[in-house]
Amino acid sequence: MTDDFIFSQSALQDYEDCPRRFELRYLREVEWPALETSPALEHEAAMLRGQDFHHLLHQHALGVPAEALAATISDAEVRTWWENYLSWQSVHLPAERHPEMMLTAPIAGSVLMAKYDIVARMPDSTFLIIDWKTGRPPSKAKLASRMQTIVYPYVLSRAGAWLNGGVPLSAEMIRMSYWYATTGETIDFSLTSDQLDSHEERLVSIIAQISERFEFPKTQELWRCRFCSYRSLCERGIEAGDMNELDDEANGADELIVDLDQIEEISF
Ligand code: SF4
Repeated sequence: MTDDFIFSQSALQDYEDCPRRFELRYLREVEWPALETSPALEHEAAMLRGQDFHHLLHQHALGVPAEALAATISDAEVRTWWENYLSWQSVHLPAERHPEMMLTAPIAGSVLMAKYDIVARMPDSTFLIIDWKTGRPPSKAKLASRMQTIVYPYVLSRAGAWLNGGVPLSAEMIRMSYWYATTGETIDFSLTSDQLDSHEERLVSIIAQISERFEFPKTQELWRCRFCSYRSLCERGIEAGDMNELDDEANGADELIVDLDQIEEISF
């Protein structure tokens, strides 16, 4: 691994899911264009809808009037999401919003990066991280264990002082919400200083493990391979897993969040 490698929640999540996938994607930078899910058209349409929706929200956060943006929406599902978003944000988000913000923080001799959809300064002087999601909501317990739920608040606590007049943000000042376009509802997380310490411990331990590692084994959880673009390279099958199985928590699919942000972060 090069000295200038920048860790992100996507990279760490890939490592947690399958060390081999982390190696292929981030160390060897292998592009293997297999579909992650099937049917292909359904998958592609879901990706495009998610992409369009994120673009709309970004433009709105930058000040483009809602009416002008609404006039550009032709997809009925995106229109429903947009209406859910408009009514939710008007009640829950204050005027001070920082969209598409990227922060980095040093950790364990490396750099950790987080790319936020929005960080909002709330009237009670807390800071709310919002992540827009267009997939189906997983359970809160699954989300709590995702690297994104750990990395985003951690990086904000270490690199967000400039948002607070130069005063570092305490754990209690940071909250995170995943907002789901399909339901217009959020799954919310607050933070304590003990949790922040244990997040840091976990991050330091994973980064140290990766940095010292020479071999990156394939996951033993074979179901993950069905939704992984490297499966033919790894000789773990040819056909993509069915997108509809993403709803089935019993086979672990609850963890397979079709996450546009993650894809954007990877391309970054
Ligand atoms: S196909 Fe399976 S073993 Fe290979 S990188 Fe993907 S998840 Fe890992």
